[in-house]
Parts: sequence; C-alpha cells; structure tokens
Amino acid sequence: MRAIEEVRRRAFRALIPPPRMPLSEWIEREMRLPEAVSALPGRVRLWPYQREIADAITDPAVERVSLVKPVRVGFSTILSGAVASYVANEPSPILVLLPTEADCRDYTVSDLEPIFEATPCLHGLLSAEADETGRNTLSSRRFPGGSLKIVAAKSPRNLRRHNVRILLMDEVDGMEVSKEGDPITLAERRTLSFANRKIIMGSTPVHEETSNVLRAYAQSDARVFEVPCKLCGSFSEIQWAHIEWATGRPETAAFRCPHCEEIVDEKYKPEMVEAGRWRATRPEVKGHAGFRLNALVSCLANASWAKLATEFVAATGHPDKLQTFVNTILAQGWRESAEELDEAGLASRRERFGLDEIPAPILMVTTGIDVQDDRLELTFLGHSRTETFVLAHMVIWGSPLDNTTWYELDELLKSRWPHPLGGTIGVDAAVIDSGDGGVTDAVYGFTRPRFNRKIMSGKGVSGFQRPAIQKSQAKGVPLFLVGVDALKAQLLSRLSRGRDIRFSDSLEPRYFEELTSERRVVRYRSGRPERVFERISGRRAECLDCFVYAIAARGLLTLDPDRREAELSQIVVSKKSSNTIRSAWLDRRA
Ligand SMILES: [Zn+2]
Repeated sequence: MRAIEEVRRRAFRALIPPPRMPLSEWIEREMRLPEAVSALPGRVRLWPYQREIADAITDPAVERVSLVKPVRVGFSTILSGAVASYVANEPSPILVLLPTEADCRDYTVSDLEPIFEATPCLHGLLSAEADETGRNTLSSRRFPGGSLKIVAAKSPRNLRRHNVRILLMDEVDGMEVSKEGDPITLAERRTLSFANRKIIMGSTPVHEETSNVLRAYAQSDARVFEVPCKLCGSFSEIQWAHIEWATGRPETAAFRCPHCEEIVDEKYKPEMVEAGRWRATRPEVKGHAGFRLNALVSCLANASWAKLATEFVAATGHPDKLQTFVNTILAQGWRESAEELDEAGLASRRERFGLDEIPAPILMVTTGIDVQDDRLELTFLGHSRTETFVLAHMVIWGSPLDNTTWYELDELLKSRWPHPLGGTIGVDAAVIDSGDGGVTDAVYGFTRPRFNRKIMSGKGVSGFQRPAIQKSQAKGVPLFLVGVDALKAQLLSRLSRGRDIRFSDSLEPRYFEELTSERRVVRYRSGRPERVFERISGRRAECLDCFVYAIAARGLLTLDPDRREAELSQIVVSKKSSNTIRSAWLDRRA
C-alpha cells in the first residue's frame, strides 16, 4: 500500500500543471453572493485568513487541506467558491460529502444553487442528472467536462460507484461510522485513481479524543493565524487565555498581548487581523496544508470579544453550553472535565468533622455497603439541605457467609451519634449491594427482616437515563435497582465543578484514589462514539460503589427536614447513648 502511495505521489508531482488564478482571486473577481445567502450580497471580499485557505485549495503542490474551524468565520463561502471554481476552471468529477441528507438538501438549495444563479460566469452551467429510476436528483449534477455529487455520510453506499478527483468534506466530526464503514475512508478511497486529486476537509471539532478533523490537522503542516500587536508589533495567535475583562463586566473584554503584556482594545482588531499571517508550525510537512482558526479573529459583529465573553460567562457552570462554546467558538475538542479530577486535590479538601463530630447542618445519615469475599465496606454520608458530607468509610473484616460479619454490621447500623442541636442521629437508610451472585442470598437474608429500618438490597443497573433508585418489579424479590451510571455522572460533575461534597479528615488517601477510580470516556461501540464509565487500570472502586449506594439510599427517604431539625433540637436523654460508637470504630479501617 505504501509503495503504491509513493508511486502515486511521484506521478502527482510530475503532473503539476502551470499556475492558475489562485482561488481567492477568482472568488473576489468572479463570484457573486445573492441576498439569500449573505448579508453583504454582491462581490465577495475575503478576510486575510480566508485568502490563504482558499489558495491552498487550488495550489497544485497541495493535495490535502484540513481546516479546524469555528463558526462565524465564513467557511461556507470558501467551500462554495471551491466548487464553483472547479466547475468553471478545472472541470472534474467532484464529490461533496456532508453529514446528513438534510445537510445536503440545505446546502444545495440555500447555498450552491443561489450562488450559481447570481454568478454570471456560472449561470446555467449545472444541469440536473436523472438517477437510475429516471427521477431528477438534487444531489447529482452534470456540467461540461465533469460532474458534481452531493452525498450524505449517513448513506455511504452512494459513494460506491463514483471515482472523483475533487473531494470536499464539511463537518467531518458529525460523520459517524456505520456498519458499511467509515464514510471518510470510503470517500477518500474514491479519489485513489486520480494522481492530481484534492481532499479538502473542514469541521468544528467535537470530542478531542475522537475528532476526525483534529487528527487530520495533526498530520498537516499545522498552520496558525497570527496577528501583530497594535502596540508592540509582535505576532501571536489570539487565544481565549489572552482575552480579559473586568469582573462581572464581560462587555469590557480586550486582548492582553502575550509579548508586551499591554491591553489592546477591540477597536484595533480589524487592522490587526488585516495584517495577520499564517505560520506553519510543522513546515517540514509538504502537500498537506492544515489551518486552525478560532472565532476571536472574526470581525463580524456577533463575534466581538465582548459578545463572546458574555456568552462564555453565561455558559459557565453549564457543561453542555460550555462544550458548545469550546467547540464552535474556540474550535477546540471537548475533554470531559471529570478526567481532570485528581485525588490529591480532593484529599486536600478534608475538614475536621466525622461521626463523632457531626456538623450541625446534617439532618439525615445514609449508608452504602459493598460486599466483598472477605469483608464488607461501608460509607456513611450526612445530608444537609444542600450539601453531602462524607462522614466515614469503614471496613468490617469477615466473610459475608459468616453470621458474625452481619452481626457487626447490624450493630454499626444501629449506632447513634450526638448531634450539635442536642439530640442524637443514626442511620436513616442503607442500601447493600447484592449484585454479586454468590452473596445475593446472604444479603437478602440480612435485609428482609430490616425493611422497617429502611435497610435494603440494591443492584446496579447501567444507562444514564435510569432513576437513582427504584423498586424492582420482579415478584417476591426484595430488591431496589440503583441507576449507577447516572449517579456516577452526577458525582463526577459535582466533584469537578462544585464544592458541595465535603470530606471528613478521617478519610485515608486510598479513599480518594478509589472515589476517582472511574472516568467517563468516549468509546466507539458498534461504530458509534459513546460516553461510558471506565475503570482506571489498577484501581479498586469499593469506595466509589459505597458512595453511590449511600446516595441512592437518600432516595428512600421522604423526611421533612424542618421536622427533623425540630426533633434533633429536643434534648432526649436516652439510655441508648451508652451504645454510641466512638472513634474506636474509626480505627478499624483497612
Ligand atoms: Zn504587544
């Protein structure tokens, strides 16, 4: 395969034709935008960053162009310009690949046809072609010396019959692998018989790990667009980190030059961008031009720094909106923030409280229990009106098939601890994982006589849409189904973005290692990118499981917090206080 590729490459170099009019020049001289397509109809004036991208497309020494793009920088003008210029100047078989049928229809009707209508030298060039059933199709056109197909990546079988010289693909990160294969690979295969082929690819990146356009850019000469500072003249790529604004006033957003460290006002942006230039960061790569652009260089009114900073502020705290901002404005792939959770950071948040020092806001206590062959592990959570407190994590050594193990657990679950309001507090509900086949009967045997104390058997079920806890419909089985994926997702997002989960200083380092033992990643399953939880290799997860079950147990409670607060405030002198478990138990951790 490599040898064929090399022969093809050499043939390609030998075939380089004399220079033609660069695409940017052709677009500005010949192309006309109709009112339906642009707010600025008529002749097209390209921005400096658009010009070099356009020229790379018609540069005979360039075989591939890969563009990592944000929205609001006018890529569709370049795409249409490229199609139009090939039709007019270098008639060839052309294929445009877009993610869906709707994209194809929309592009043909709203962009391509109006531009061909409005542009004098293109007028009447495209004629509809009948498909095999005799119907005219929108997506297949003939013109003197060539043909144009517009195909949806969702129906890759339409790719089979045609060999093309010019392949243009837009929004490649929206193209999914189907059982017929990867549409991008299938489309590229159609170009192999042309020594002077062109493969043009553009997209807003989506997920960093699975992005097609980021992968292509990484193989290119990786150009970045740099503008000169108004104040010191040094060139830099404007990045989000360089945009600053006064706290609470995103409308004051401005650029801090990384060289002179002075603030440059938005009003200088057009002249800086006009004087900007592309720089290849991997100049040793030949024949593959890669461009990376973000919306910070866009001079459109809806992409002003102030407008973007306002959008960013509005998106903060909303992961979905933030991802849209990162993808479409910054043109960066999204990384799940949960991946950046580090156990050391969480451990450093430990505070002085625990079962023997219950914080006053706690109104309820729940326990989650994980069953292993040689031990039980359990986490005690305190719940205030707004926060979750991890009070303790403990281990009871002994086989789950041994009665004394369960006796120890029962004693712990019956304990009461002094509450600062004056009364005592105990475990309000507990869920024990009965999922492991060998111990199911033992767990059922323990929970069955303790339903009135809300001590229940639980079993994890996957799927992000599941409720936290729900009674199993299976008859005669005393079982609750726990939506572990949804609860883990909620936990990871609370841990990474908030501080409403608080940790006792009695927790050991291994607690935090296990709590962060799974991360949400993107995986291809049956060809589809999918987010799943994956265990970090070599880590145990009992503490995570206990946490999830203890949170699920909270769902069994329908207590009125006001009433509970009143109860805790009534000082009850009880003989049971001798039963209070103190730090002796805390020392029994593994
Ligand atoms: Zn400067």
